[in-house]
Amino acid sequence: MLAFEEALARVLAAVPAPASEDVALREAAGRVLAEQVRSPIDLPVFDNSSMDGYALRAADVASAKPDAPVRLRLAGKIAAGEVFAGEVTAGHCVRLFTGSPLPAGADAVVMQEATRVESNAPGEVLILAPAAPRENVRPLGEDVKRGSSVGQAGELLTTGQVGLLAAVGLTTVRVGRRPVVGLLATGSELQEPGQPLASGRIYESNRVALAMLMERAGAVPRIYPLVADELAATGLALANACDQCNAVVTTGGVSVGELDFIKGALQQIGGELAFWRVAIKPGRPFAFGRCRGKLLFGLPGNPVSALVTFLLLVRPALLLWQGAAHVSLPAVPGVLAERLVNDGERRHFMRVKVDAGGNICSAGLQASHVLSSLALANGLVDVPANTTLPAGTVVSVLRWD
Ligand code: AMP
Ligand code: MG
Repeated sequence: MLAFEEALARVLAAVPAPASEDVALREAAGRVLAEQVRSPIDLPVFDNSSMDGYALRAADVASAKPDAPVRLRLAGKIAAGEVFAGEVTAGHCVRLFTGSPLPAGADAVVMQEATRVESNAPGEVLILAPAAPRENVRPLGEDVKRGSSVGQAGELLTTGQVGLLAAVGLTTVRVGRRPVVGLLATGSELQEPGQPLASGRIYESNRVALAMLMERAGAVPRIYPLVADELAATGLALANACDQCNAVVTTGGVSVGELDFIKGALQQIGGELAFWRVAIKPGRPFAFGRCRGKLLFGLPGNPVSALVTFLLLVRPALLLWQGAAHVSLPAVPGVLAERLVNDGERRHFMRVKVDAGGNICSAGLQASHVLSSLALANGLVDVPANTTLPAGTVVSVLRWD
């Protein structure tokens, strides 16, 4: 039985080097940047006003007060998108708006609320307050300097970052190609949802949950029909999925029962098993191997085990496949509001519920067939073998919501 870190290292070592492709920004959020991106322009593109007001020379209005305003001549108006042809000279100001380019000669903006225009003198503006040089001016390059980095290779693009890339004028980015992953559920007891259950049958629930997690990890799931517990059927389904996808994830049939056919089927169609047991709970019978040049992840059938082993051992592989620099679940500190008990011999990734204040409770029954606690959980806490973590312990929660 492999230690978790050893299993993960062996999985990651088998992942092929990432391939890349250009995608439109609209499609880029959640994808992994394949190369560093440098901004082709400064941001702001030019000095501009952060207020509706008047551009002027700060030195002209140093003495301005509400009861002793400075009177300036209005030399023009700049709407956002326009530029001022002339220059602001001493004793003059120019009307402008948020985002209007600062005209030549001006070095500050006084906001509209600190000014007054008298109806009998529309060509003049009374300035009621002083302005420091550069006040209310958003300087060229303050946000992003031309040539500076606006994205690193290996970064998962956030929506905010996509907005930044658009602002510097990019329309496409180079990202890691998404692996297509076949998804097979094995088990003669399984039934497609949507029909009343036949006796002895259960609804199949792994594929829908795993497909969503695959998509969130940037992969493209390809869902296959249910596979009965028969050696030949399992082998055919595996071979077919391997031929059509970059990797295959199966659930069920990977343990030691005589009706567990994944390992046997893999060998029968010429694949090879790298390992098939990992010292974690839930999810000990996790198989990993190769088949027709593709990676095969054989997850246990129990829905909790399938989901947890996916998050711990498959998700990192799918992210690395796209070139991601960080492939583990985000680990967030929190405080146990109640104790977590692992009296077993394997480390237990326990389902927990973290509230908005960072307080952590067990999500409920921890047995690997219990779906209600899976539904409630938003994280996992790694509890070592034969260990009780008392209430009040600060732990790291692997978040997966
Ligand atoms: P197995 O790993 O095939 O021995 O299955 C372990 C347990 O998980 C059994 O109780 C199965 O009925 C159940 N199970 C297996 N696959 C699924 C599935 N796709 N959806 C829901 N339950 C499953
Ligand atoms: Mg089974």
